[in-house]
Amino acid sequence: MGAPNAILSVRNVYKYFGGVVALDNVTIDFTAGETTAIIGPNGSGKTTLINVITQWVKPDAGEIYHGSTRLNNMRIIDVVKLGIGRSFQIPRIFKELTVMENLLVGAISRLNKNYNLFGSETACVRKVNEVVSLFGFENKLDLPASQLSQGERKLLDVAMCFTLDPKILLLDEPTSGVDTKRKREVIETIIKVGHETGKTIIMIEHDIELAVEYSDSIIFLKDGKVIQNARKDEKEKVLKLIG
Ligand code: ADP
Ligand code: MG
Repeated sequence: MGAPNAILSVRNVYKYFGGVVALDNVTIDFTAGETTAIIGPNGSGKTTLINVITQWVKPDAGEIYHGSTRLNNMRIIDVVKLGIGRSFQIPRIFKELTVMENLLVGAISRLNKNYNLFGSETACVRKVNEVVSLFGFENKLDLPASQLSQGERKLLDVAMCFTLDPKILLLDEPTSGVDTKRKREVIETIIKVGHETGKTIIMIEHDIELAVEYSDSIIFLKDGKVIQNARKDEKEKVLKLIG
């Protein structure tokens, strides 16, 4: 089991791809309601960490717990049902569909007998409308996603995750591809909405300054190992390490 106060615990996790050690004895406890930034060079295992937590990739050794529930070998869909959502580095939106259609597709695709998150179509639409106002999409609802800026597309992708009402959200580079000036707005919106809705956020972020500024703790991965697990007030330590 994980630490008593952790919402999510990764315990001595290893993942190998052929001869590559993508995760090398990774142990991390995530605290409910906090934002954790995962940083590290390309190929350091950041995406693999999100993949093993959400069961898109099965760890070769070690344990993953959500409270006292062991996630290892669960189906991806059952992990989502527990309230653990994720996004991908490349937004999974439909460019030809409008903003509203994207949000509805995301939510409605989960409305079926095996996987009924909402109980009814009305509840589903209510949730989508709530997400629209949280993200301030009211004036963009009829725009095709192709007409959104890159930053807005990334936010739409994250908003689609929010329609499933996760308690924990794992975001793989929510600002990648967004120009430097706009990165801050994107992160700010995600963190603001996350706080308003009490989410636990785990995000991979390349911009170290932003990562440090907007998170409660920072995990630095290198060659699949946790090199540093620092609280926000130890940010100097992290910045020095990255140098
Ligand atoms: P990051 O997200 O930090 O850039 P990744 O987790 O994507 O790193 O990758 C960590 C290492 O594992 C890299 O060496 C990468 O090439 C390798 N890797 C990741 N996924 C796969 C896969 N599906 N097949 C083979 N190798 C992989
Ligand atoms: Mg990655």
